[in-house]
Amino acid sequence: METTAAFAGLTCTDCDGTFSAAEAPGRCPDCGGILDPEYDYDALELTRETFGGNAPGVWRYESLLPFPRSVAVTMDEGETPLVEAPNLADELGVGRVLIKDEGRNPTGTFKDRGQALAVTAAVQHGATDVALATAGNAGQAASAYAARAGLDSHVFVPSRASFINKAMINVHGGDMTVVEGRIGDAGAAYEDAIAEHDDWHSVKTFVTPYRHEGKKTMLYETVEQLDWTVPDHVVYPTGGGVGLVGMHKAATELRTLGLTDELPAMWAAQSEGCAPIVEAFEDGKSVHDAWETPDTICGGIEIPDPGASPLILDALRESDGGAVATSDEEILDSAVTVAQHEGIEMGVTCSAAASGAWALAEDGTFGEDDTVVLLNTGAGNKDADVIRSHLMSKGI
Ligand SMILES: *Cc1c(COP(=O)(O)O)cnc(C)c1O
Ligand SMILES: [Zn+2]
Repeated sequence: METTAAFAGLTCTDCDGTFSAAEAPGRCPDCGGILDPEYDYDALELTRETFGGNAPGVWRYESLLPFPRSVAVTMDEGETPLVEAPNLADELGVGRVLIKDEGRNPTGTFKDRGQALAVTAAVQHGATDVALATAGNAGQAASAYAARAGLDSHVFVPSRASFINKAMINVHGGDMTVVEGRIGDAGAAYEDAIAEHDDWHSVKTFVTPYRHEGKKTMLYETVEQLDWTVPDHVVYPTGGGVGLVGMHKAATELRTLGLTDELPAMWAAQSEGCAPIVEAFEDGKSVHDAWETPDTICGGIEIPDPGASPLILDALRESDGGAVATSDEEILDSAVTVAQHEGIEMGVTCSAAASGAWALAEDGTFGEDDTVVLLNTGAGNKDADVIRSHLMSKGI
């Protein structure tokens, strides 16, 4: 396997066991825990000037990624703009609101950052096939990156997944199984299938150790875009928590490297229709209880049983952030408000970050000079039908 100089292998977040990348393609070989890439930070000697290299997108941060750009499966994902939202800042009563617009990625969501790394790892492991269960966007991204690498992809989606996701998985040549029901049903079908196919390499959330590693670059970019100031708050629409865990890791790394002093407060925004992280946070628990009847229009965060909840809850507490749930009605309203007041097209799932920020502002959580970053994890026009229907439900 080709890996970068400072990459020191994988550590289990449960049993602290350490493994080389080659011996652990998925979960911890000893206990089944989630594996996290580690680096020899002392050996890196990075300064603010040398932190980002010259490569485009995610691979600009090659020295803090497991694999070098020379072997990367990439479409120049990442390097998304951090767009000022002055009208929202006024409405929320804060100094600045900035929207990290992940809709500008190759398949229209930040899932590309994770799949670029996960599919690169699959190639390094000599895989011929990748597989995952997904609410939709990760499947679209996986089938795209697999196509680029010449791998076959096996994608299990719930019938609820959006038409665009299903259509594009087909267009990329993915082998798609549409499972009646919700993400849990797609997950069960995937488990059955992968048990019968030893040669399928999993690129599922927190099975591959590399999706959060790709997504951590969102925070590196944000801090660089803010000229090395750490934002006070980052509000993130949270499903499996891959992006939140990744960004919190990135903030910790920047501090360890001596490049910043603080951590941004990380906020998990969920829908009231599926809010296991909010419930666990408010109850002071370190693990979630599975949400019994998930029901939200926000497919990307309709994740009733997020296996990484201990990592998510740790990140929220360590960063002095928290968790907030709003209703689907409020979430859809904020997609429309942001589109009408700022021009920016937020996806439906992503708008949970906007309506969550509104709720936090109303609670007095934000200071009047604070800088608040909202993650627009996917392009609004992927959800045009849902947002338009919301207007119709109001007679517009
Ligand atoms: C997958 C997804 C999320 C949730 O991501 P996690 O990292 O699993 O929490 C949020 N928004 C969109 C658009 C997504 O596709
Ligand atoms: Zn372990």
